[in-house]
Amino acid sequence: MHLLICGGAGYIGSHMAQWLSAQGHRVTVLDNLSTGHREAVRWGELVEADLLDPSSLDRVFLGRHFDAVMHFCAFSLVGESVRDPYAYYRNNVAGTLNLLEVMRRHDVQRLVFSSTAAVFGNPVSDLIDEEHPKVPINPYGASKLMVERILVDAASAYGLRSTALRYFNAAGALPEHGIGEAHACETHLIPNVLKAALGKGPALKVFGDDYPTPDGTCVRDYVHVQDLAQAHALALGYMESHPGAHAFNLGNGQGFSVREVIAAAGEVAGRSIPYTVEQRRPGDPAVLVASSDRARRELGWTPAWTDLRDIIRSAWDWHCAQPF
Ligand code: UDP
Repeated sequence: MHLLICGGAGYIGSHMAQWLSAQGHRVTVLDNLSTGHREAVRWGELVEADLLDPSSLDRVFLGRHFDAVMHFCAFSLVGESVRDPYAYYRNNVAGTLNLLEVMRRHDVQRLVFSSTAAVFGNPVSDLIDEEHPKVPINPYGASKLMVERILVDAASAYGLRSTALRYFNAAGALPEHGIGEAHACETHLIPNVLKAALGKGPALKVFGDDYPTPDGTCVRDYVHVQDLAQAHALALGYMESHPGAHAFNLGNGQGFSVREVIAAAGEVAGRSIPYTVEQRRPGDPAVLVASSDRARRELGWTPAWTDLRDIIRSAWDWHCAQPF
């Protein structure tokens, strides 16, 4: 198959390109390089284009035939989305609409869409399955849920086949392939913990230790980025026999607190990690853990990275090799 990976120069998109190439597929990466990295495009051709510029998109689709599109281009920081919602709705919703329209013009009928646990808002159950109420509490989650709704409508109006994959906490890296998590302004826990361990960043700030959790810090479900890539590839096959718009939650089904992550990272790095306890970060639910039963049952998804230490070790090995 020939796949277009929108956002393939970014963290999850670059791991997607590696996975698909290893499976013998051809990939083309579309990216505006606003947050992605040219050097992360190691598989397939990079075409620079912007979802907010439909004519640049048409140029990508002209003369190339894609069997399906995987869409990772998005702004994805909760706090930023609260401060600048217009930017999030423009980029994540209007940009996706442009992509869907160009796909329709060029008769591409398969999409795998990068969604998020943030579509659910505050959890009302211990494990979040696909039926959990979707009441996003920030513009980021709302923008992703809007796209999920557009995909449902596109399935009935135009016959678009799509799969939205709602990631819980993407983590890890593939140091042997030279790809990992590299955000200009890092907000995620595991990279910040590892940078603190390496002395490449300040002491870690733990955002709140007064949550209603066993040790007071927030609990999250960390899933390896390569397992996310595997799920996307399985979705391609699923859509062949299942028309319509689908959605699956992707996580390991096991929650770890911020303190547990710090302890595991300390073991991996072989050193203690300096941290301070700070105020809660606005918009953080206490616990977010996925039920991925549907993905396991219907997609046949089996995450390979089930041990938090292994996930952290892959990120650690990658961070150790980086100049920043
Ligand atoms: N967190 C933290 N310090 C950091 C980054 C994150 O204490 O430097 C906490 C954050 O408050 C949340 C958890 O770690 O409870 C995971 O945050 P992250 O930003 O990695 O992912 P999110 O769950 O927000 O998507």
